[in-house]
Amino acid sequence: MTDPLQKIYSAVDQMIENGSFKKYRVVSSPQGPWLVVDGKKVLNFCSNNYLGLAGHPKITEAAIQGVQQFGVGTGAVRALSGNYILHEELEASLATFKKTEAVMIVQSGFVANLIAVQTLVDKEDIVVSDELNHASIIDAVKLSQVQTKFIYLHNSLDSLREKLLEAVRIREDSKRTDGSDKTILIITDGVFSMDGDIAPLPGIVKLAKELGAVTMVDDAHGEGVLGSSGRGIVDHFDLHGQVDVEVGTLSKGFGVIGGCIAGKKKLVDFYKQKARPFSFSTGLSIPDTAALLEAVKILSRSDDLVKKLWENGDYLKNGFQKLGFDIGHSETPITPVMIGDEEKARQLSSELFTENVFATPILFPMVGKSLARIRVMPSASHSQKDLDFGLHAFEVAGQKLGLI
Ligand SMILES: *Cc1c(COP(=O)(O)O)cnc(C)c1O
Repeated sequence: MTDPLQKIYSAVDQMIENGSFKKYRVVSSPQGPWLVVDGKKVLNFCSNNYLGLAGHPKITEAAIQGVQQFGVGTGAVRALSGNYILHEELEASLATFKKTEAVMIVQSGFVANLIAVQTLVDKEDIVVSDELNHASIIDAVKLSQVQTKFIYLHNSLDSLREKLLEAVRIREDSKRTDGSDKTILIITDGVFSMDGDIAPLPGIVKLAKELGAVTMVDDAHGEGVLGSSGRGIVDHFDLHGQVDVEVGTLSKGFGVIGGCIAGKKKLVDFYKQKARPFSFSTGLSIPDTAALLEAVKILSRSDDLVKKLWENGDYLKNGFQKLGFDIGHSETPITPVMIGDEEKARQLSSELFTENVFATPILFPMVGKSLARIRVMPSASHSQKDLDFGLHAFEVAGQKLGLI
């Protein structure tokens, strides 16, 4: 018999043949405005390290001190011997920072979404989801086994209302087998990371209240970016206490690793009792948790880094527009340089690397087939000189490829 995994091996060969096999470049320096990538020093234009905290000396020091006090591993899931004082402190400080009743921290933003959805709804409930929501939300909905799903047009409150009304009709027509009402859960990304646009959260909350739905926002790209001192999208729109489930990541703006779910204390209590990825998987390590505590401290003290991030974003957007690039309709520092053709986007990225700029192409299935782009990610740690260097490289490469 042939190897039953032969079809998998062939799929790899095929990807290599048709040029879709992703090669991962290798980093050998701390995260910062410049990186050593494949042995070469390049300007970093593609990291989610918005505030420069990933390589921040204070955060590195906090991780080291944490390790000196408690070691590295936490030994077990938090329900057993792995619930550290640092975990409790981080949850409390995040709750204060985000102005919510309670927060639970988990291993990643991806896991946070799995927990947030899967623990709240099951096959008898209803999910209403933005068409451009993150892959982890799509997988979370699959895992929840929800049978009734509505996908509304991206950021369209009209489309959301239409789908919600259909959902309400279903809720009125049939109960769950336990006799209770079906839950209707609306899910949206806060900031859509491929375009940098922001969900119309006040309108979503209003519709949800009107029609008795639960709201969930995934604020992965809003944390450290939106709101005062980077408190996120809920703070940005002053909707404290009005969004039921706030999911976040600690791996982007916060610069480390992990995810969080914020909301009412009773809701977080429920998650901590019932969520399978919480109950059956070991929590964050000591250095991660200690580093994150310091990150929250830095943000709570000052909004200088957030301000600098936005300044840098504005500077870049201006620069790209002057050069004649199409930069889409971002409302955040995320700056997509729209190319369209996949091959052109790949070529541009490779020319940029020749010019010592690291900016990766964003291709299908991350975006639609003819919507390829280079997504430029500024950070608070870039100097104006760095940004000028990057813009100049885009000018050279863009002219060479006939894009501008
Ligand atoms: C990055 C991202 C995640 C996953 O976060 P991790 O902490 O990297 O697992 C989830 N949702 C959105 C919208 C993201 O951009």
